[in-house]
Amino acid sequence: MNQEAKHRIWTLPEIMEVYHSPLLELVFRAAQVHREHHDPREVQISTLLSIKTGGCPEDCAYCPQAARYHTDIEKNDLLSVKEVMMSALNAKESGSSRLCMGAAWRNVKEGKDFDHVLELIRTVNSLDMEVCCTLGMVTKRQAEQLAAAGLYAYYHILDTSEEYYQEIISTRGYEDRLETIENVRSAKLTVCSGGIIGMGEAVEDRCKMLLTLASLEPQPETVPINALVPVEGTPLEEQQIVPIWDMIRMVATTRIVMPRSTVRLSAGRTQMSQEGQALCFMAGAGSIFAGDKLLTTPNPERSEDLQLFDLLGLKATPAFAKGSRPQAKPDLVYTDREAAPKWSRPAHVIEKNREYAQQAKSQRKASAASNTSKK
Ligand code: SF4
Repeated sequence: MNQEAKHRIWTLPEIMEVYHSPLLELVFRAAQVHREHHDPREVQISTLLSIKTGGCPEDCAYCPQAARYHTDIEKNDLLSVKEVMMSALNAKESGSSRLCMGAAWRNVKEGKDFDHVLELIRTVNSLDMEVCCTLGMVTKRQAEQLAAAGLYAYYHILDTSEEYYQEIISTRGYEDRLETIENVRSAKLTVCSGGIIGMGEAVEDRCKMLLTLASLEPQPETVPINALVPVEGTPLEEQQIVPIWDMIRMVATTRIVMPRSTVRLSAGRTQMSQEGQALCFMAGAGSIFAGDKLLTTPNPERSEDLQLFDLLGLKATPAFAKGSRPQAKPDLVYTDREAAPKWSRPAHVIEKNREYAQQAKSQRKASAASNTSKK
């Protein structure tokens, strides 16, 4: 199920050279690598479902779910088993082999909500779908419990380089991300980890992030590449849409430095033309996120994706094409509670994040005052 442990060791200058090579040569080379390790006609489809939306205590500058910013997302508590089952069945019917459930949490806390998530995993696993979760930071023991419930993959992206991460998030450290990935690995789950481009980072940051991912032993099974979708009310709302050429370069470079990983064309597809997406597939993208929403940001309609697949002669990869279905193990039951894990809180000040949090606070105060005066 996992990537082979032995792989080429890359250096930053080598990755930078690949990234900057002439575009058509880069795409051609990436397409060759893709054909060596994957079926170029197959694209794996994952549906991303927000099972708990909004109210997150973190300060990720790109995220409308951070409680401290003022955005117009609709918050919801954990979805019920029935709601998730309906979504999973719809996703499966539309060709998705994987359901990725996302909860806007800083980290997993054992207790009622975590037990409910374990139940959701058992339910989706029983539908013969690959189950993935993104729940924030997890300890080894929590990762083991997720695996025992039948989880197939854990989604935990690095966002960007370690250096630029400090310009985007102040509530946790890069080392927490890497530790979570290690915990997930130790529970023998597959890893889905990549990043976001278009947040104001330099090309060097993109390549450094790829270097970190490519240096993992083994490399992640799936590498999602997201283009920032700037959302009103977040500190990155005024960021320019990332040019399609950057996305193609990033997909192609990822393909070359992690040849066996599945590269996923993730957020930002509504900002791309069909031709742009086609070039990304040519450059080695072998997966997409489907569904009309990616957690909270827009995504192409399913019918548009199917039309594009028809046009390009692509077909959906069946579930468990690259690994076997995990068997749920009901015997892993802990009766005690794990001691609260010590995740970091760097809490350095990111001026823009602070400014947006203050603006949101004032807006909330003003609307509370106006509601009171109306009563
Ligand atoms: S990206 Fe995740 S951790 Fe960060 S604010 Fe959004 S929901 Fe919270």
